[in-house]
Amino acid sequence: MIDKYLPYSTQWIEEDDIDAVVDVLRGTYLTTGPTIDAFERAFAEYVGAPYAVAFSSGTAALHAAVLAAGIGPGDEVITTPMTFAATSNAVLYAGGVPVFADIRPDTYNIDVADVERKITSRTKALLPVDYTGQPADLGPLRELADQYRLLLIEDAAHALGATYRGRRVGSIADMTIFSFHPVKHITTGEGGMVTTHREDLAERLRLIRSHGIVRDPTKWSKNEGPWYYEMHDLGYNYRMTDIQAALGLSQLKKVDRFIVLRKKYAAMYNAAFADNDALIVPYQSPDGSSSWHLYVLRLRLEALSITRREIFDALIRENIGVNVHYIPVYWHPYYAGLGYRRGLCPEAERHYEAIITLPLYPKMIERDVIDVIDAIDRIVKRGKR
Ligand SMILES: *Cc1c(COP(=O)(O)O)cnc(C)c1O
Repeated sequence: MIDKYLPYSTQWIEEDDIDAVVDVLRGTYLTTGPTIDAFERAFAEYVGAPYAVAFSSGTAALHAAVLAAGIGPGDEVITTPMTFAATSNAVLYAGGVPVFADIRPDTYNIDVADVERKITSRTKALLPVDYTGQPADLGPLRELADQYRLLLIEDAAHALGATYRGRRVGSIADMTIFSFHPVKHITTGEGGMVTTHREDLAERLRLIRSHGIVRDPTKWSKNEGPWYYEMHDLGYNYRMTDIQAALGLSQLKKVDRFIVLRKKYAAMYNAAFADNDALIVPYQSPDGSSSWHLYVLRLRLEALSITRREIFDALIRENIGVNVHYIPVYWHPYYAGLGYRRGLCPEAERHYEAIITLPLYPKMIERDVIDVIDAIDRIVKRGKR
C-alpha cells in the first residue's frame, strides 16, 4: 500500500496563481472586469479561435451553447452516452431531446456511422465529446453536419490542448465547450468557456450569459435615458468572476507544461500494460493527439477470474483513488424515467463494465505512476485465468 492517497485527478496551484488571484482581490473589479477580457483573449489565442466567452461552469457553457444554437422543445441533438451527465442534461435544459449514438469500440468516441443512422428531420445539432482528451472524429462529423445542415457543438471538457489533424480543439467545431473544474487541465475553481469562429454565436453567448440584456444602444427599440438598457431574451447569470479569470489566466500559461507531464505518465502506463493480455491500453487514432485528461484502462474480462469490482476495491485498499468514467448516461434513473432503455448503446455498455480510471494529473511524480503500475501488475496477475 502507498502512504499517501492518490486521487484520480487534482489541481496544481502554485504561488504565482495565488498572487494573480490576490491582485484581483486588491483591485477594483471582482466581476465583469478587465481580467475576464484578458482571459478570454488569451484562451481564444491558445486554441486558435476568434472568439471565446467565459462562463461560471462548463455546464453553464454547455447550456448557453445549446441555447445559442437555437435548440428548443422537440429538437433532437445527437450525443454520446459515454460522458458526464452534464453533456446531455444541457439539451434537456433547453427542452431538447438527447439522442444517444453508440461509441466506437477502439477510441470509445461517438461512432459516426451510428450518428448518421440516428439523424431525423428534427435533428438540429451534433454534440460529440472528446472522451478522455482524445478528439472525436471531427472531420467526418463536420461533413455530416454540413450535409444535413446541423450545428457541430463539441464538448471538449476533457480536451484542452488536444489537436485534430494538426488543429487545436476549440478552433474546429461551430462551438467548443471547455471546463475549468479542478480535475480538468486548468482550473478556475468552477468555470467554463465556449470558443467559436462565428461572431453571431459569440454575441448570443454573451447575451445568454448575462440575463439577455443588450448593452449596445444601436440594438434597442428606444432609449429612455442614461439609465436605460433592454432585455431581449431570457438569459441567465452565468458569468465568471474576475477572481476566477485571474486564476485561469495564470493557469493557462502552464497548460503546455501540464500536458507534457500528462502525456509522459500516460506513456509510462501504456508501456507497462501493453504486453498484458488481460489489459487494453487506450487506443489512439492517428487523426488526433490527446491531451490526456483521463487514463482509462480497459480489462479483458474473459482473461480474468476476478471482477472489475474486485480489482477496483483492491486498488482503493492500496490508497489508489481509481474511478469509473462513465456510467452510460441513459442508465441513470432520471433518464430511465424519460423512457431511455438499457441496451440502447451496447458498445458503451460493454465499455462501462470493463473500465477503471487510473490516477493521471501533472502534480503526480514518476514514483506515483510506478506505484500504480506495481499495484495493477500484482492485482491483475493474481486474478489471471
Ligand atoms: C467536467 C465536464 C463537464 C462539466 O463541466 P463543469 O465545469 O463541471 O460544469 C461537461 N462535460 C464533460 C465531458 C465533463 O467532463
